[in-house]
Amino acid sequence: MMCGGEIPFTKKEVMNLHLLIYGILSTLVILFAGLFLVQIGYTETRGCIILEDNKIIQKNEELICCLRSVLDEKNIEIEEIKKNAEMMIALRPLKDYYTDDEISEILKEIPHGKIFRGDFRCAANFGESVGFHGAWRLRHQGWDIYPVGDDWMITPLAAGESVNFSDNNIYGLNITIQHSERVQSFYAHGETVYNRATRGNMVEADTVIMKMGESGLADGPHLHFEIRVKVGANKYVAIDPEPFVDR
Ligand SMILES: [Zn+2]
Repeated sequence: MMCGGEIPFTKKEVMNLHLLIYGILSTLVILFAGLFLVQIGYTETRGCIILEDNKIIQKNEELICCLRSVLDEKNIEIEEIKKNAEMMIALRPLKDYYTDDEISEILKEIPHGKIFRGDFRCAANFGESVGFHGAWRLRHQGWDIYPVGDDWMITPLAAGESVNFSDNNIYGLNITIQHSERVQSFYAHGETVYNRATRGNMVEADTVIMKMGESGLADGPHLHFEIRVKVGANKYVAIDPEPFVDR
């Protein structure tokens, strides 16, 4: 007697069943292998894209860096040209005595420096009209410097030799410092001149040479400062101190 629904298979049917299972398994294996390969390819492509992106970013950064340094160089050049132009303008009073080439040479002789350790304000600039003398309009030959704060001590523009120290009705107590054969600086209206700055002595850039005062023709304590350039045997001409004084 037969129990349940047990159905006997023929040999051929079993074979077909095996073939079917193998077929399904093979298809699945091929499908998964295909998907796996596609996935690798995709990842590699992404990798390439990321690599390319990084290269582009790196190239851009190099380019920006390069441009920035070119720009910085150009800015420094422009600043130098501007500064040179300012200095040549400051030396305009020498045009009656020297050629442009000679003025360029003189420019190298003019020192740059501080004349005052504290802050100051400039009340009368170079070339400003300061009144009349007969038919001639008088132009201010230097700077009038007033201190901002309580430091009244004056130091020379640069190291040099004190070649003149005098007292008169106009400039009061005054000192002239020679910096090179053709260039000197002048300090007037002092209250006290320190010994080291009297005639024939050498002074350093940080030597205190004078205390600001109101001696001579002065409307209050201030420093009248000039930079002068030799234009003849005993003749000096004042130039605009602006580009040469560090603040
Ligand atoms: Zn003055």
